[in-house]
Amino acid sequence: MISTVLETSSRPSYIYGPVISWRTGTSLGIDPIGEISTCSFNCSYCQLGKIQNITRERKVYVETSYIIEDLLKAYRQNSFHLNNLDVITFAGSGEPTLALNFGEVAKQIKEFTESEKAKVPLSILTNATSLDDETVIKDLENFDLISLKLDAVDELSLKSINQAEESISVEKIIAGIKNLKDKSNAELQLQIMFLPKFANDNKYIDTIADKIIELGISKIQINTPNRAKPKSGKNYWIETRGNHYAEAEKTHIDESSREYIELPVISQERAFYIEDRLQEKVTKFLKDFSVINVYKKQ
Ligand code: SF4
Repeated sequence: MISTVLETSSRPSYIYGPVISWRTGTSLGIDPIGEISTCSFNCSYCQLGKIQNITRERKVYVETSYIIEDLLKAYRQNSFHLNNLDVITFAGSGEPTLALNFGEVAKQIKEFTESEKAKVPLSILTNATSLDDETVIKDLENFDLISLKLDAVDELSLKSINQAEESISVEKIIAGIKNLKDKSNAELQLQIMFLPKFANDNKYIDTIADKIIELGISKIQINTPNRAKPKSGKNYWIETRGNHYAEAEKTHIDESSREYIELPVISQERAFYIEDRLQEKVTKFLKDFSVINVYKKQ
């Protein structure tokens, strides 16, 4: 398995990995955002470090031709083999749906995999803040799996956990997810990052259960920030995409500035308690409810 941040002349590649994801297996990463970390959130646990550009602005951050060029280059260099991939995932340096061309990139990648007679599902990790935009819904058409972040249940948790851009509210996020659910044929999953500050309160867990029932999405991921966050200050180290922090240690980044922030995590015991509590509450309403737990029950 080759894991790489390919250097393409003077710029980093917009393709990274493959990485092993506990959620989806072997995943090739697509980064339509690029060198400046850009997101409508600035999550307290974000593994990119502090987000540099907190915005809801949709625009072309990286030209489609660069992304496809990097993909083909990595393919020709045998940096990945299509048959060994479980999934191709759009994520990278922030919120991928902010890239105005992410749908076009997805379409071209799908055409490429089909031309190579490979069936590799396309997946995207999104914070669900752009789903009120019908062009985003349309651009998600080529995705097989859409993983939606839902950490916050009210404005306090939204502010504390996600540190969202000011025009975003929980209400709008929920409405956006419902909008997507009505129009999409993709498999939808909710990814929930549990931080002890909120997750040790059963009322918060029960409100999460209510939101899951309200949305009618039966696949969820229980996560907790069990990897340290880069203490990057104003800088962004693109090598940290896809949890490649270990790779950052081998690169140009000065050793003295490689610092981590250890984040508070929920315990294994608490994660399984949350799983059981959600199962108990949600399965009455969603018969096929299933949970992927970061601690994975043996
Ligand atoms: S939504 Fe994702 S990329 Fe954006 S700040 Fe949160 S963890 Fe980072």
